[in-house]
Amino acid sequence: MSRVIGIDVGGTAIKAARFAGSRMEERRTIPTPSAEVVGAVTELARDLLAPDVDGVGVAVPGVVVDGVVQYSTNVAWADVPLRETLEDALNVPVVVANDVNAAAVGVGGDLLYVALGTGIGGALVVGGELIEGARGLAGEIGHVPVWPDGEPCACGQRGCLETYASASSVVRRYGGVTSAAELVARLDGDPAAREVWDAATTALGIALASATLLLDPPRIVLGGGLAGAGAALVEPVRAELARRLAWRPAPPVELAADPADAGIRGAAVLARAVRESA
Ligand SMILES: [Zn+2]
Repeated sequence: MSRVIGIDVGGTAIKAARFAGSRMEERRTIPTPSAEVVGAVTELARDLLAPDVDGVGVAVPGVVVDGVVQYSTNVAWADVPLRETLEDALNVPVVVANDVNAAAVGVGGDLLYVALGTGIGGALVVGGELIEGARGLAGEIGHVPVWPDGEPCACGQRGCLETYASASSVVRRYGGVTSAAELVARLDGDPAAREVWDAATTALGIALASATLLLDPPRIVLGGGLAGAGAALVEPVRAELARRLAWRPAPPVELAADPADAGIRGAAVLARAVRESA
């Protein structure tokens, strides 16, 4: 059986795994170095390489066009020709993709995928294809305004979904906790925590109602760190989405099955796809 490698380059860790079919057979995780990230990615891939590996997929947090990482804040890349560099070093076909797009493809089937992490990213898969838009910016649901005169967003707009519903936004708006999980643990006894959380799930419901009316996705999958909140997240979001849609049914809203490994799994799926089309 042929094999592929999936790599997920994150701001704090680089994860990589070799897959035989959909089975993960070997994996590595290293802390993201402060410099020479491309070298670290190359080394990880080399370490996992086997004679029958015939594709490598790399998911990166940034804007990717034709294998070139144009921009990535978390790893401070600008115009890095990652695909070419890795293909030269490894001698196998390489595909490089935005990490949210990779995670969406990794889930499988047509869907709207929303990654709730430090920021909020989105990706839309229709007919098995990622919808990229004219500038590669389709699916940026994090910067859909939910409250027109709301709080300023780091992007320059006001009232963006991301300002209320990202993992870092709920921590910032509540204050006094270091993680969203800590805030979720306080929901039952702390009205201030409840208020911040309700604003987040309401904002998500509003944004998903707009997305549903525009796109009619067959399902919506929530991933990223905040998806770890489980029922505390998905139940009020489902309720708000249903409340906002009067004349049409709401699509099912699900939690990503394996959010921590969504990036490497999606990168592996993309690697397999690029091999088959080569
Ligand atoms: Zn914004």
